[in-house]
Amino acid sequence: MEPTDLLEQIIENNRKFVGSGGGGDADDLVSQKAPVAYIACSDARFNPDALGSNLQFAFKAYNPGNAFTGYESLASMEYTVAHNKSKLLMVIGHEGCGAVNSVVSGDFRNEEGSLRVHLDVLYNQLRDYIEYGEKQKMDSHFYEVMNVDVQVRNLLRNSPTVRDAVERGEAMVVGMMYLLRKGSEGKLVVTNVNGKDDVRSIKKLVPKGTPVERGYANPMPFY
Ligand SMILES: [Zn+2]
Repeated sequence: MEPTDLLEQIIENNRKFVGSGGGGDADDLVSQKAPVAYIACSDARFNPDALGSNLQFAFKAYNPGNAFTGYESLASMEYTVAHNKSKLLMVIGHEGCGAVNSVVSGDFRNEEGSLRVHLDVLYNQLRDYIEYGEKQKMDSHFYEVMNVDVQVRNLLRNSPTVRDAVERGEAMVVGMMYLLRKGSEGKLVVTNVNGKDDVRSIKKLVPKGTPVERGYANPMPFY
């Protein structure tokens, strides 16, 4: 498909969506509401519509590897906590993440420009896990889960706005994995809550029946 065909398709998709009421009406749109906020990987295999109606529901930040490597994504989370009073903040990683895999394999060194800078920072954030994982022969899922732990920590440690909201009990930070493996395609599992990264502690903090799955303990827990 040519870019112009894609543009035509986008305009048509939006026309149909708005025509079916999905865009809301002017009364709904006077101000923003976003009880939920998340950072997720930009990967096209993650479908944010699966989480609920996007309209007035979620404030979103995306980048390769769902990582807080600069100001932008952290600023998104701080904005929505300060101005929308978002209560549920999620870090959503996924299986088969190209960004995490390229950082682990070293392939990121072949990238250029801003992508290289972003992945360099992510490499430094994950370096201890990469060294550990090489020794222990861990698979890619290990690094993807650890990256979610690291990003939850980044959010809590590097943002006083978010940390204060969590400490006051006004917000909760949840790390999750979006599974792509056969038989679990699209399943969301909780892997971290407010920095707690062991299944027993997590289960005390989430509603009964919430899928909690880690697969790996964090060899270097934060709390
Ligand atoms: Zn990814």
